[in-house]
Amino acid sequence: MTTAEIKALDKQYYMKTFGDRIPVSFTKGEGIHLYAENGDVYKDFLAGIAVNALGHNHPILTEAIIKQAKSYLHVSNYYYIEPQALLAEKIVQNSCADRVFFGNSGAEANEGAIKLAKIYQYKKGNPEKYEIISLVNSFHGRTLATVAATGQEKFSAPYHPLTPGFSYVPINDLEAFQNAVSDKTCAVMVEMIQGESGVHPVDKDYIRKVYDICKEKDILLIVDEVQTGMGRTGTLFAYEQFGIEPDIFTLAKALGGGVPIGAVCAKEFAADAFGPSDHGSTFGGNPLACAAGLAVFEAFEKENLVENSRRVGSYMKEKLLTLAEKYSMIKEVRGKGLMLGVELEGNMAGDIKHDLFDAKYLTGATATTLRILPPLIITEADADEFVTTLENILKEKTI
Ligand SMILES: *Cc1c(COP(=O)(O)O)cnc(C)c1O
Repeated sequence: MTTAEIKALDKQYYMKTFGDRIPVSFTKGEGIHLYAENGDVYKDFLAGIAVNALGHNHPILTEAIIKQAKSYLHVSNYYYIEPQALLAEKIVQNSCADRVFFGNSGAEANEGAIKLAKIYQYKKGNPEKYEIISLVNSFHGRTLATVAATGQEKFSAPYHPLTPGFSYVPINDLEAFQNAVSDKTCAVMVEMIQGESGVHPVDKDYIRKVYDICKEKDILLIVDEVQTGMGRTGTLFAYEQFGIEPDIFTLAKALGGGVPIGAVCAKEFAADAFGPSDHGSTFGGNPLACAAGLAVFEAFEKENLVENSRRVGSYMKEKLLTLAEKYSMIKEVRGKGLMLGVELEGNMAGDIKHDLFDAKYLTGATATTLRILPPLIITEADADEFVTTLENILKEKTI
């Protein structure tokens, strides 16, 4: 089908949630490349919004999916499931968590984390400790509880009354946080680097103090690693770079390399609160999704991709910082590893994203920030080529 034909069907039959999409459709992906229906070839520097960590059609992932599909796709959680048990083990061996529960998306993982925090306090005999503090401009998902957790009105305004008990404090404002804490505080939910709102990291010093207050008052620290997790920021999990260990953290996006899966990961003392039938999911921990997750870990290990994310990420950030010195349109370069944001003057981010698209690069943009989230397999040469393309665009805008 041509893109125009697909668009016509979409416009007639799909709900309008994604509005006017970028007018392109793809027929094949290979590595960092996506092949469009009309013959154009794009370099994917968005990776399905931080999902395709291995790029497209990675042999380890593709083979694992085929192998699992030929064995069995799904059985119920009534039974023991080998890839599910192995993926849980893998995450525990590589993180501060002791136990894992799988769902199907980031929002669902965060729902699970919120439920776990609440039941933890409930089972300790503190059901009145139900309030959850999150950050202004955070993003935690689109379900009813996670839009309540998300500190942005635009996602929640039409859906009131929201799940009660959520409050929001500005990022990196310790005093505001201290003022928000009360005897009712159950948990704090934070991203180490806010993605959706434009790549804004928490200060290390701030989050360490938040952590100390949490420990002192038996408040659970939930870190949303849905976007930052799985090597995106140059370490397997972003919290490793902030000198803290979350009580609960969540994963999704890159965990299945493109196959939908989410995870709630927790330390034993918190995880222990979920007893039989306290939480569940039909598809969660599905054999196909877990086989994909295991393949992602296998590729990470065989190809040193977390290290590659750190190395190529800091290389590209240096190059972007050099551009920032030359072009006053760039106001700031933020981020770690291959989660980078370039803040631009005025409302230019959308224009630049558009120009990059015309130059056959896929990226993302908020109102002010260009978001760069390539697959973790990119090379320094790929980064060079991207930065040169971006510079040519900025040069033209300067004239
Ligand atoms: C994308 C994202 C989510 C939501 O994940 P879905 O899979 O879309 O539900 C939650 N938190 C963060 C930090 C995200 O980036």
